[in-house]
Amino acid sequence: MSVPVQLNTAIKNPFIVPGLKKIDIDSQLNVNYSFENFIEGDCNRLARSAAWAVAGKPGGTSFNPLLLYGATGLGKTHVAHAIGIEIKNNFPQKTVLYVPADRFMNQFVDAVKNNTQNDFIHFYEMMDVLIIDDIHFLSGKEKTQDVFFHIFNHLHQNHKQIILTSDKAPVDMQGIEQRLLSRFKWGLSADLQSPDLETRIAILKKKMYVDGIELPTDIVEYIAYSITSNVRELEGALISIIAQASLNKKPITLELAKQMIDKFVKNTVHEISIDYIQKVVCDYFELPLETLKSKTRKREVVQARQLAMYFSKNMTKSSLSAIGAHCGGKDHATVLHACRTVNNLMETDKKFKGYVADLQKRINLNSRG
Ligand code: ADP
Ligand code: MG
Repeated sequence: MSVPVQLNTAIKNPFIVPGLKKIDIDSQLNVNYSFENFIEGDCNRLARSAAWAVAGKPGGTSFNPLLLYGATGLGKTHVAHAIGIEIKNNFPQKTVLYVPADRFMNQFVDAVKNNTQNDFIHFYEMMDVLIIDDIHFLSGKEKTQDVFFHIFNHLHQNHKQIILTSDKAPVDMQGIEQRLLSRFKWGLSADLQSPDLETRIAILKKKMYVDGIELPTDIVEYIAYSITSNVRELEGALISIIAQASLNKKPITLELAKQMIDKFVKNTVHEISIDYIQKVVCDYFELPLETLKSKTRKREVVQARQLAMYFSKNMTKSSLSAIGAHCGGKDHATVLHACRTVNNLMETDKKFKGYVADLQKRINLNSRG
């Protein structure tokens, strides 16, 4: 057996400061979280383009720090890595480090214990690009915030790039010192929101492409319709369907996918979405979704649109104006009018009443386990 040659490029102990020499560290980047693998949508356009700009000119844009914020599972960590990866591609000599805030804190606590605080600080001050993920974790951790404040100032003064992620915008952060919050606001805060249906489908397709998986379109669409708010869950559902099918050596059918997703969704708080209702209504009347969302005043389309609004009002927590916006840019008064019309028609038109009952059944049927 041959003995592998030990490559001495990575620093074992990050707190050994090698004088003025440029240090060569493992940037801790996950290559899968590249820009290439990140799907752009309305939900993330600003964050993605700011990230891209920073990656092309680290420390040289006004986006310093760049703070990416948003709810869990929407791609903050992914974009943060993507910046690091792209910077390493563009400027291989730059020292880039990705560190989750909890690890940063634990390292600091260890440094205090071992009396190596200065090494800790020096190490971080040597970065050209420092990416700290989930900075909200430092909430209430005053000592760590204090040391981060000094590192931040040093890096910023030297035009080094700082990238942060957080679950909230700086204005809403609790337990973070004012002087840090005001520094977070120096650069750009960009949010990531829940992806719309098209983006969710594109994300699933991308994931399938990267993993070399093939699935029929109706299954992909079913997953995207059912799981609406969190990309991590979206991917989780895809993976469990595939795992289940391969374990059972069964082909993946829409039936199997539904069972899996229902189980998946049952464990999370399940909410019926406007997207989902629109899909059921469109399928029922055999209308393309674009037509439902268009301004067309054709009678059948108006009726389908009114039904979608009616069910959205009754079965989701969405506001009237959100429902209107989803149904072809209508206002809340139009939604109210639609609900009244549907109620009136149900009393006077037997056939219409039948539609409503059918649709109600379908929405319930497909949305529960
Ligand atoms: P967060 O850090 O906001 O909680 P992550 O960055 O960990 O979320 O994203 C969760 C998962 O969703 C990751 O696997 C990530 O690759 C994926 N993901 C999120 N947004 C996108 C997107 N727009 N395109 C492709 N994948 C995405
Ligand atoms: Mg994250």
